[in-house]
Amino acid sequence: MEGTKAVHSHDHAHHTKTYEGSCFCGSVQFTVSGEAAAMGYCHCESCRTWSAGPVNAFTLWQPDAVKITRGADNVGTFSKTARSNRKWCKTCGGHVFTEHPGWGVTDVYAAVIPNFPFKAGLHVNYQETKLRMKDGLPKMKDMPKEMGGSGITLEE
Ligand SMILES: [Zn+2]
Ligand SMILES: [Zn+2]
Repeated sequence: MEGTKAVHSHDHAHHTKTYEGSCFCGSVQFTVSGEAAAMGYCHCESCRTWSAGPVNAFTLWQPDAVKITRGADNVGTFSKTARSNRKWCKTCGGHVFTEHPGWGVTDVYAAVIPNFPFKAGLHVNYQETKLRMKDGLPKMKDMPKEMGGSGITLEE
């Protein structure tokens, strides 16, 4: 996202940054590489009930930026709708990421990539919120227009 380009990295310019992630028990390990397409918080009921939390901190990536490096056969999938293929570890039940084929992105939960410099840009599905977050970021009623939403923003 903006801001990152101007920062001189200790890596060489052509070197793509890679961040490691894992499930709760470590059986499933994966990496994300490059730049996230978007980052923020989703307040929708699906995210809340799947995560068992009040809000989901998401990072969206091109699908090929996410690679499972260990335990691929230990990854379960659940698709309540065709929009989301939810992935978790069959050993510990820890969630790792969700593929969104219709949007062409994979949501890697910020909580499972601890060294990734998460920087939220917006909140989505704020009309469903159970936890208001007064951080000054845009609060989309549902989703941005470019992702098929209304593009309407709400008060914090
Ligand atoms: Zn696990
Ligand atoms: Zn959601």
